[in-house]
Amino acid sequence: MEKILIVDDSMVQAAQLRSILDDEYSVTVAQTAEEGLSRASNENYSLILLDVVMPGMDGFTLLKKLQEEIITQNVPVILITSLSAVEHEQHGLILGAVDYITKPFNPMIVKARVNTHVKLYKYRRQAERQSMTDQLTGIANRRKYDRYSITKWHEALRMQVPFSICMFDIDHFKMYNDTFGHPAGDKVIAAVAKTVSAHIQRSTDFFARYGGEEFVALFMGDPADKLFAHLKKIRQAIEDLHIPHDPAVSQWVTVSIGGVTVIPAAESAYNSYLKVADTMLYDAKKHGRNQVVWADERMRQLWEK
Ligand code: GH3
Ligand code: MG
Ligand code: MG
Repeated sequence: MEKILIVDDSMVQAAQLRSILDDEYSVTVAQTAEEGLSRASNENYSLILLDVVMPGMDGFTLLKKLQEEIITQNVPVILITSLSAVEHEQHGLILGAVDYITKPFNPMIVKARVNTHVKLYKYRRQAERQSMTDQLTGIANRRKYDRYSITKWHEALRMQVPFSICMFDIDHFKMYNDTFGHPAGDKVIAAVAKTVSAHIQRSTDFFARYGGEEFVALFMGDPADKLFAHLKKIRQAIEDLHIPHDPAVSQWVTVSIGGVTVIPAAESAYNSYLKVADTMLYDAKKHGRNQVVWADERMRQLWEK
């Protein structure tokens, strides 16, 4: 059930709106703008019905605040008010309300307008999700990675916690395609993504398809030696899938992994550490593939074999 928030100081009015909507939606009522703001910031509503005239903070002010916050700025807001002057309606719409309903209202019309905006919001979220997902593997795509990496890097910088960047690359994959065909190669990419995903499950972990047969993972909070051990397990898990490769190069499909752990400093840049991870990956390839090479906090290299 989609969730709707009603912000209205009048109990009678709120109860009336609730009765129109609560057969189809999970409805919450806030009796002040302050309470409305705190609920909207802490829960995911699909729509907010907002009264304009309230004691204390009014609806226009709350609307402005909702528009300024990243978590609430996309949630559709319908203003409901007895202020029928056209300037008020104009003001509300300019502030970013999706609709404006004047009292007394017709319940069926309120319901219909709510339904429309909840539906549009749902489509929008769906489209956003799809645009951030890699179709072949179902994991995050490059676009999502580009946004997420910078946000998380700044978070780690603020919190002064270790941050790790990790690159994966499937070994001799051109040969795999040449021997077994591109569709079979696609299946391998999906299988590798699935196995790695199963090991990267914490809320602070992130895993994405970087492009082609390459993946990238980000981790926060753990020191290099712990991640090195974790990534060795993941590398082994891929080998243990026992996907036959072309015997000319390898018995099974394997991956090479390169990573770096760093405590971000104000002057350090994300991209320079991504380059370090890439260099570690290159070293793993150079030294025979199917292995993990890591650079720790002091830029000492940890070698698997
Ligand atoms: P290395 O061990 O050094 O990584 O060798 P490699 O052959 O894996 O590396 P290379 O970068 O030369 O080749 C990558 C291959 O991955 C080439 C390309 O055809 C294949 N590839 C990239 N994206 C896809 C995809 O979406 N599906 C399939 N089936 N193959 C892909
Ligand atoms: Mg590659
Ligand atoms: Mg490769």
